[in-house]
Amino acid sequence: MTGRADMVARLRSRGITDERVLAAMAAVPRERFVRPELAGEAYVDMPLDIGRGQTISAPSIVAFSIAALQQPPTARVLEIGTGSGYAAAVLARCVAEVVSIERDPALAARAREVLAGLAPTVEVRTGDGMHGAPDRAPFDGIMVSAMATREIPPALRAQLAPGGTIVCPVGDDRVGSLVRYRDGHTENLVEVSFVPLVPGSPDA
Ligand code: SAH
Repeated sequence: MTGRADMVARLRSRGITDERVLAAMAAVPRERFVRPELAGEAYVDMPLDIGRGQTISAPSIVAFSIAALQQPPTARVLEIGTGSGYAAAVLARCVAEVVSIERDPALAARAREVLAGLAPTVEVRTGDGMHGAPDRAPFDGIMVSAMATREIPPALRAQLAPGGTIVCPVGDDRVGSLVRYRDGHTENLVEVSFVPLVPGSPDA
């Protein structure tokens, strides 16, 4: 079994230099966020099935996305697509406040349970993250953990504090670019594959 320290060493060798992000990755037990039968693969750099047709992102994508947000420890961050809750737990070790929105109630409930023990300050909301969290806006950083079609959802741009940053995969059918938006400018950071950002609430 590949361990957490090996994972962090690999992240370093792949160019992640943000020490706060690396320390957070070194501290959060990713095996707690995957299905028990996949625990042995928790530190391999790949996405893993978390049920409900969704995946926990690969560790390198989580580290890269959080580093790309470039937030100080005092920042307030919104995440869209809680999934397993892993990225939210890593974020919570890097910034002051994390609100994370998940559209699937079953995943949100499970993430809430795991996070209650590991990152109790994270607020997990159930709902359509494309609307953001207007009552908690503005946010210094917004990290979208699912692929938006064509553009960053406008409601999210509207909930950004002046000088704030959004990191969001944008593309079509699971493949696209990780885009960083700040001060009205967008920048394509890297080619990525993500599960789709789905509008509305789930049917079941
Ligand atoms: N950050 C997660 C990875 C999540 S995968 C982790 O660390 O495990 C993407 C998640 O986005 C899925 O759980 C999916 O249900 C959720 N999602 C898709 N569309 C959404 C929407 N409109 N609002 C909120 N969550 C959404």
